[in-house]
Amino acid sequence: MNAGLEYGIQGRRLGGKVALVTGASRGIGRAIALRLAREGAFTVIHYRHEEASAQALVEEIEGASGAAWAIQADLGTMTGIERLVRELEKGLLGRLGSTGLDILINNAGIASQGTLGATTEAAFDEVFAVNVKAPFFLLQALVPRLRDGGRIINLSSLVTRMAYPPEAAYAMTKGAIDTLSLLLAKELGPRGITVNALAPGVIDTDMNAQLLSDSGNRRYVESLSALGRVGTVEEVADAAAFLAGPDSRWITGQYLDVSGGSFLG
Ligand code: NAD
Repeated sequence: MNAGLEYGIQGRRLGGKVALVTGASRGIGRAIALRLAREGAFTVIHYRHEEASAQALVEEIEGASGAAWAIQADLGTMTGIERLVRELEKGLLGRLGSTGLDILINNAGIASQGTLGATTEAAFDEVFAVNVKAPFFLLQALVPRLRDGGRIINLSSLVTRMAYPPEAAYAMTKGAIDTLSLLLAKELGPRGITVNALAPGVIDTDMNAQLLSDSGNRRYVESLSALGRVGTVEEVADAAAFLAGPDSRWITGQYLDVSGGSFLG
């Protein structure tokens, strides 16, 4: 039985589409999941620890006539990546009668403070495991299940187009994401699948809670953007919804800056 597709969401822009958003229990991932679900996608909410938040999001989506369900997995390990793939397939088959996926948002990520000199091997390995290894192997497993005409959106960052030495390893992980997006766009183009990197500037999320709690820091961050303020998760979700939807069908292999015009020169 195809519960999601019969959910009364066919009339919406992403009606009949199945989306997976990693790291969707909070922050940017949560906003993207909510937005895709509002657009009609059957939305799979991946989370690591925050079960209550993930379930609350599922309920919020269902309360608005959308369709969603949540899967727990730690993407810092191969076991966790495999668990997500396994549970996704099992859940999609049970709920929709097919394991097909249309939209994959690689959003889960961690920050890592430290210059070249101050970054430990453990911190380097951890940030590369979550920000690079996980999307890579998740894509390796899920690309064969992605339907033709699908969408892949990988969360990059402003720090790959401007030099930011205080987060050396983190910036490098996002550089890898840009490269991965570019090469996959070429590989998957013949199937009509677009692959793009979505690059927020400083967004008001838990990741930046400490930075932005200081009013001086906040004013500095605001001054970096041409629009003179800190970005919101909804603003990133709006851009993600564009890349996930039909209007972006001729855009692939691109880096979309969502920084309110930060560091324009
Ligand atoms: P956040 O810290 O609020 O959320 C990150 C999410 O990733 C959480 O749901 C968390 O559970 C998940 N996650 C972290 N480690 C995980 C693991 N080992 N296994 C599974 N899930 C894990 O961060 P955010 O600000 O919402 O960032 C989301 C994405 O956007 C990240 O990839 C981040 O690098 C990127 N980004 C954020 C900003 C910003 O200013 N907030 C700017 C540029 C890029």
